[in-house]
Amino acid sequence: MVKIMSSARGKISTRSVNTVLCIALLLLSACAAPVSKYKSATKDEIDAEIRLQKEMVYQAFHNEGNILDNITFQILKANAEFCTENALAYGFTFWNIDTISKSDKYREIVENLYQLDHVFQINQVYTNTEDQTAQIKAGDKIIAINGVDVSSKSVKTKDIYKALSKTGSSHPAKLLLLRDNTEIETKTTPYNVCNYPLRYDYHDRIINAFANGRHIIMTRGFYQFAKSEEELAMAIAHEVGHNIMRHPGKDDENAALGNIANTILFNALKMTDFYLPSFVYEGIIEQSYMVNSVAFEREADYIGIYFAERAGYDTTNSIALWRRMSVEVDAEGIEKRSTHPAKAERFVYLQKTLEEIAEKRRKALPLIPEIDWDNTSEKDIHFKRPKSDTTIKDNEPHYGLNCGAACM
Ligand SMILES: [Zn+2]
Repeated sequence: MVKIMSSARGKISTRSVNTVLCIALLLLSACAAPVSKYKSATKDEIDAEIRLQKEMVYQAFHNEGNILDNITFQILKANAEFCTENALAYGFTFWNIDTISKSDKYREIVENLYQLDHVFQINQVYTNTEDQTAQIKAGDKIIAINGVDVSSKSVKTKDIYKALSKTGSSHPAKLLLLRDNTEIETKTTPYNVCNYPLRYDYHDRIINAFANGRHIIMTRGFYQFAKSEEELAMAIAHEVGHNIMRHPGKDDENAALGNIANTILFNALKMTDFYLPSFVYEGIIEQSYMVNSVAFEREADYIGIYFAERAGYDTTNSIALWRRMSVEVDAEGIEKRSTHPAKAERFVYLQKTLEEIAEKRRKALPLIPEIDWDNTSEKDIHFKRPKSDTTIKDNEPHYGLNCGAACM
């Protein structure tokens, strides 16, 4: 028998404890030692599997980033006429090895996987851009733009934009591409888009998406929770809705009327959507903000459904995302309002918007969200008042979108 409480003075003897630990360890290791005669693996075999898995990890978030980027592009392009904050975007994204940080642990993997070197190459060609990108393919090397050689090692992303902008916003840029040792000459004109690029936070598994006035941010947790491109489109369009209706700015103003502590928290929070860790919510949810936020959320939902539908996404089924949020993530939110409308309430309002859109389609009316222009102006929001008799002019060219994977 092993005596643990051995000391006459009522203390545990160090020697006894050591003995017990040694015996316990011996027993444990004897029990835990594997006895199956499985085959051994070489270091090379394990290293090869490590490499393969790392490649799969990178490919996954690269593909996810491109999918999100493409959906965002469709929404920003289809609704450009309503945005006062515009940018020009070509129907493709490009990258080279220097767009991957030298400290990025995936740099060498990316280099091999995508044959990336210092010559810029096409990363992704957006869908529905055949009018401008029919001859461009992912992987094409960009050799020259508008007669300027851009194939040297010293060329940076800004030099590519500089070369592209030589022909201006409404004239096509001349591209000289290299594909399988064959030179391809083509022309491409940029699109006018709303300037709210997406940033994909692929490290974050929390289910979250938000708008900060300039960007749309989506976490990998949200990407994986969404079940279809239509659901992702609805969420992205909702965030565009926040930005175009200037909700982040308005919330700051509203919060400034409240107490200082909450203002600081709210500014840090901005228009965070969907789900945040519960500790972030603490102390922020106050009636004054709640009312405004719920109204803003409803407005972003309303604008978002229109914008997603206008970009060609059928959102009829995607509003089920909110049902799943209730069922799988936050049953509390079915009735209870936080910064967002209660889930059940939100679902019903979204259905009403879908009915409104269906009605407009039946009557062949333009799909334009109803804005109370008597009580607001396009200066208050970033929504350009639709005027059927005027042509939309491009703003000063500033290239906001074409960073693609480099923006992730
Ligand atoms: Zn929102």
